[in-house]
Amino acid sequence: MTTASDWLARIRALPLPERVRIMNVCGGHERSITMAGLRHALPQNIELIPGPGCPVCICPEEDIYEAIQLALNEDIVLLAYGDMLRVPVNVPRAAARTLEAARAQGADVRPVASPVEAARIARENPDIPVIFFAAGFETTTAPTAALLVEGVPDNLFILLSGRLTWPAVALLLNSDTPGFDALVAPGHVATIMGPEEWDFVVNLHGIPAAVAGFTTESLLAAMYSTLRQLIEGRRFLDNCYPEVVRPGGNRIAQQHLHQTMDVCDANWRGIGVIPYSGFVLNETCRAHDARVHFPAYADDARRRAGEMPPGCDCAKVVLGRIYPNECRLFGVACQPRHPIGPCMVSDEGACRIWWSGGLRAPAGAADRVNVTP
Ligand code: SF4
Repeated sequence: MTTASDWLARIRALPLPERVRIMNVCGGHERSITMAGLRHALPQNIELIPGPGCPVCICPEEDIYEAIQLALNEDIVLLAYGDMLRVPVNVPRAAARTLEAARAQGADVRPVASPVEAARIARENPDIPVIFFAAGFETTTAPTAALLVEGVPDNLFILLSGRLTWPAVALLLNSDTPGFDALVAPGHVATIMGPEEWDFVVNLHGIPAAVAGFTTESLLAAMYSTLRQLIEGRRFLDNCYPEVVRPGGNRIAQQHLHQTMDVCDANWRGIGVIPYSGFVLNETCRAHDARVHFPAYADDARRRAGEMPPGCDCAKVVLGRIYPNECRLFGVACQPRHPIGPCMVSDEGACRIWWSGGLRAPAGAADRVNVTP
């Protein structure tokens, strides 16, 4: 087996260009990279850029606001993945700005770890409507689809805020300034949707790409592959996570998604509407669609793009335009205990990962890691 040290030695032996920017689009990848200290271990001319890989960070403000208001104003139980409870929205000081604050004001808000747990809570409370705020990328949306196909209790409703990852990368690549030279594609998404979903990066844009898992070895293998592609002038989508990622992906999971949801244009917090980047429940799930059966509290003004808290640069962080430590609030006003923006809340948010991983020096400091913008 090729060890991480072996992969590092191979990368160091490559005739690297002066500057190479490799983007990842998975919070799990960013966590593995940061915790393993890869930014320090790799040659300084390789820059590792965290990209749009945090579903909590891009969940539109209007959906979180809707969940908060449903919890406060309707006689329901509101369930959400744990990270989502602390994500703030922009409201007047006295109002609940997170689901956690709504709970403190008396709302029945509970964290869950899976759709199965949501169904269990609904069965245990048959006389109360239970709303599951299902926010996430393909990997967390597919289990919600599976649950809907299998059948859910009559009193369980889904407030869906699902997103697809590849359209955000397409948005970057279609811009004048993609900001990266190679891509490490998300292995867990490829497991569900199939690695072919990332072919466009190579075929349409000529950017080297490789699918990676979460181990240091898999990530370094993917980086080595993309670097060799760059140096040798070859382009192909490499699969460096073959033990899990198979051609075509998980057909059953895809079928579940197809049976229960449609793909739609969708708003990404701070970024705006990205074409074909969201999941919406289809007609077959109407009986369990919270958006059909409960009032809409978010108004048009709240649906506008650019609703990060004042001073928060999460949108730029998510798009890889800046590094977390280039936000002027990073580690000063904004820390995990009192987060300003969603990227400091979620375990998959780049700001929180960098802070937790000890990358705390502000950009420009003497001990700055290789993070030249
Ligand atoms: S450090 Fe805080 S305020 Fe700045 S981008 Fe990250 S989450 Fe937003």
